[in-house]
Amino acid sequence: MKKCFECGSEMKEHNSKTPEGVSYNYYRCHRCSNEVVDMPQLHAVAEKYRIMKRYNAKISKWGLSLGIRIPKELVKKYKLKEEKEIVIVPERRGIRLIVG
Ligand SMILES: [Zn+2]
Repeated sequence: MKKCFECGSEMKEHNSKTPEGVSYNYYRCHRCSNEVVDMPQLHAVAEKYRIMKRYNAKISKWGLSLGIRIPKELVKKYKLKEEKEIVIVPERRGIRLIVG
């Protein structure tokens, strides 16, 4: 049981949605209506946002191989440069790129 830090009453877990439609849980005190989100609840919603953040890329012909363009935002985030080697891991559900 979670106790309200304002009045010491029992807090019950509720569910709501962010403006983006991501559902999350929080605790609400039945006496003073104080609402809190604890760490596990916060991590759960952060993970949902992480998964939501995806990028689309188009495959283009590059000699005899095919290439994909890596979005600028990811180039910056992973400090990618021309000629830098990355590892391509074939997986059951797709391809994973590992940047060293
Ligand atoms: Zn309370």
